[in-house]
Order: sequence, then structure tokens, then C-alpha cells
Amino acid sequence: MNKKLVTPYYLIDERKLLRNLKIIKYIRETSGAKSVLALKCFSTWSVFPLLKQYLDGTTSSSLYEARLGYEKFGQEVHAYCVGFAKADIAEVKRYADKIIFNSVSQLRINFPAVKNLKIGLRINPQFSYSHFDLADPARRYSRLGVIDRQELMSAMPLISGLMFHFNCENDNFSNFAANLDLLGRKYGKLLHRLEWLSLGGGLYFTKKGYPLERFCKKLKEFSEQYNIQIYLEPGETAITHSAELVTSVVDIVHNEADIAIIDASTEAHMLDLLIYRTPAKIEAAGQGHFKYIIAGRSCLAGDIFGTYRFNHKLKTGSIIRLSDAAGYTMVKKNWFNGLQMPDIVVKRLNGKLDKVRSFEYKDFVHSLS
Ligand SMILES: *Cc1c(COP(=O)(O)O)cnc(C)c1O
Repeated sequence: MNKKLVTPYYLIDERKLLRNLKIIKYIRETSGAKSVLALKCFSTWSVFPLLKQYLDGTTSSSLYEARLGYEKFGQEVHAYCVGFAKADIAEVKRYADKIIFNSVSQLRINFPAVKNLKIGLRINPQFSYSHFDLADPARRYSRLGVIDRQELMSAMPLISGLMFHFNCENDNFSNFAANLDLLGRKYGKLLHRLEWLSLGGGLYFTKKGYPLERFCKKLKEFSEQYNIQIYLEPGETAITHSAELVTSVVDIVHNEADIAIIDASTEAHMLDLLIYRTPAKIEAAGQGHFKYIIAGRSCLAGDIFGTYRFNHKLKTGSIIRLSDAAGYTMVKKNWFNGLQMPDIVVKRLNGKLDKVRSFEYKDFVHSLS
């Protein structure tokens, strides 16, 4: 089977996923907090049969993600969208257990259609943790969530829960704990009257060394203090370190530096590297003698994965494995330059390689008309 794999392909390793999933289960058992997978980060449904044994359901950013969660994952379906259209609501209510509105106006206009579901509001607590302004939910002029206290108070009779998504790649437990206390002081009176509280995503609790016991204790104490069911919405942390984008070198050129061009592209296949200006991770690279810029094969001048040192010379056909290729990659891939789309391959728990999707010219053609 291995011989039949042709680069480029995304390789998801279920055994690596399992490490994260066991942590999520531990949190559930120790703290009582439920976890719903944020589909906007990872929607590769071929591994949902494994994921759903460890998570309580999914959360979504749109009608289609809510439908995917309902059809391919099952269990709890949380439906959120920054702006639902009327037609979205008519359909999304068939899939969702909970609908979370981004504003009080969205809540009021759609309430009659969804009043038999559990309804929540997203709140902007006006504090956050993020290294990137682009991804900071409490940035200036943020449209993400309700700020006005009077508005929120007036909506209380219509809702059973609140959602706060205020972290982005937060691996700092003390910061999270302090912000949770702040949240309690600011919204505690309201939380006492509600059934559920979602703390959103952006917490890096599967990172090595994260103080899981203290995290669980904090969540448990908070949920007991306010007598409320806590939800987490893990995206990146649920699937981190579980996939690679496996590529081959197609050419090596020289312009002051040696540049290895691979059969993939940042813009088309790992777009976040470009958006957040971060280099890709290549585990095989280290302090070796042979230094290369690894670059994509799109015509974008800045299509660059990073600069790395290898222990051996690269040549045409050398395999380059880009790690951490699960989150915000496959969901964002696109047909820029008409480049061949990486296949999706899953390494199952039993070690078997399963090519779950391959893309052809006709997929490119059908992406437009
Ligand atoms: C993006 C997002 C998540 C997931 O965030 P990660 O950083 O991938 O954990 C969860 N909830 C909401 C509302 C989001 O916007």
C-alpha cells in the first residue's frame, strides 16, 4: 500500500490523534466539562468514528458545518454563526441541539423559529489572549459577541447558556485561570440563572507540560460554584501533532541560497503559514550542514515554508514531511494555480494506511464553472 502513495498527501495518524483524545476524555471525567470539536479547524470526517468516542459532539461556524456535524459526527451539534440568514435558520434547526447567536438582534429576529432548541448568546468579555491581532476576538471594533450589559440582561429570559471564545493558542494556565475568575466576577450573577457555559476554544491543554490536573480542578470548581455545565470547544488542541503534509522535492535552484521547490504550496495547502507568517515545522531538519529554503511550487513569490538545515543533501525526489498539518490546513485548501491537490491518507490505529480521498483534474474543473 505504501508504494502506491504518491506525493503530495496529507497523512493523518490515528495513534497520534489518540494521545490528544485521551486527554480530552480525562478532562471530561475529571472536571465534568464536555468537549465539542470545532469543525472550522478540522472537518476531515474519515476520522470522526474515532473522534466521536472521545468527544461529546461538534460546534460549527455555519450552516454547512452544522450539517456536517449532524450527518458525520452525531451526538451534540452546537450551531453558531456570526450572521445567520433567515434561510439558514430554517435548515439549521433540523441539525442543531443548541443555537448560539452572535448578537441580541440575531437572537430576537430568529427566536420564534428556534424556541424549542437550547439557545445561547456569544459574549465579548472585552478581555482575551491572542498573539495575533487578526485572531483576537476582543480586538478593537470586534463584531464577535455581545458587549452591552443592558442588552444582555434583556435577553436573559430567552436563553439557557452563554458562549465566550476569548483564547487563541493559549498555553498559559495561569492566564486562563485569572481570566476565568474575572469572567466569574463579571458574569457570575447571570451564570447562576443559566444551564450551560461554553468557554470556546483556543486552549492548548494537549501541549506537553500543560498542568492538566490544575486545569480540571479549576473547571470543576467553577462549574460547581455556578451550578453550570461547562463546554470546551477544542479545535487545534484536539488534533495537533497528528498529521503531516508529505511532499517531494521537484527542483533545486540557487539564488544566493539553495532553494528546494516541493510539490505543494503554502497558499494552496497550508494557508495559515502565509496568513500568520509562521514557518512550517519539519521534524527531520536540525543543525545539519546542508541549508535550504523550502519553497512551494505556486507562482507566488513569497510561497515559502521556511529555511532549514538537513544532515544530507536534498535532491529531486527527496521526501519533505511538514508536520502539524491537520488544523486549519485541509479546511482551507484551495485550487490556486490549479496545483494538484494532496490526497488524504489515514494511518489507522492498526497501522493500516487508508487513502480516503484523492483529487483529480475533474475536481479542479468542478470547483468553478
Ligand atoms: C475558532 C474557534 C474555536 C476553536 O479554536 P481553536 O483555537 O482551534 O481551539 C472554538 N470556538 C469558537 C467560537 C471559535 O471561533
